[in-house]
Amino acid sequence: MPTHSLKYRRAFVKLSGQALANGKDELYDSEMLDRIAEVLDKCRKAGVELCLMVGGGNIWRGNMGKTMDRTRADHMGMMATCMNALMLEDVLIRHGVPAVAMTAVDMPAFAEPFRQREAVAALEAGKIVIIGGGLGIPYFTTDTAAAVRAAEIEADIVLMAKNIDGIYSADPRKDPDAVKYETITYDKMLEMGLQVIDLSAAAFLRDNALSSYVFALKEPNNIYEVLTGKSIGTEVTK
Ligand code: UDP
Repeated sequence: MPTHSLKYRRAFVKLSGQALANGKDELYDSEMLDRIAEVLDKCRKAGVELCLMVGGGNIWRGNMGKTMDRTRADHMGMMATCMNALMLEDVLIRHGVPAVAMTAVDMPAFAEPFRQREAVAALEAGKIVIIGGGLGIPYFTTDTAAAVRAAEIEADIVLMAKNIDGIYSADPRKDPDAVKYETITYDKMLEMGLQVIDLSAAAFLRDNALSSYVFALKEPNNIYEVLTGKSIGTEVTK
């Protein structure tokens, strides 16, 4: 049993679809999925309630449907996130971790419908809850959906696992002088136009005084490090 003290009691974790592919030219990197499952179990055993929102970018994003009707393309994006939610549920259960996938758009033959009270009850019963389908409406991303669901389930923190290890003053791949922030406010982030978190998600999190933490998922154990208070990315506060 891990001995580190926990900084958070109930955490919301946003995983992008790309994280599940881990940069490979395949939909899923099974080794990465195993590592994510192991770390999530370690966090759960340490006593954190975990709710996950998964993206769909490894399969489809609405903005890929250039010639499509946007709403239809977003429907496909939401279905992609549901596939990822089923994949995560499957890998967790295979690892012996109690987990339940819930979808924003009802597909009862495949998963539980997302209902705030059922999600909270599952968390309190020690299950990891994985949400597919974002908010179930087009023109949104799973960053914003994560912010809204995190508020609904009264999470203490939203972990934004990204392909960058924090928020920088400029794009560090283009600007060698870019500096990484240990903490930043949503207002400053918005004012500087730093789009590591979607603007609509950032505004929602600010308005609801919900802190988030941006870090790199490349090493899945980073989830545990953040939950035990290690400073490895950028904390974003009101
Ligand atoms: N999406 C949507 N409504 C939502 C959440 C997601 O329409 O509430 C669609 C949208 O097309 C989005 C896609 O699902 O591009 C996949 O989500 P996202 O782009 O956030 O995935 P990620 O980049 O995190 O893998």
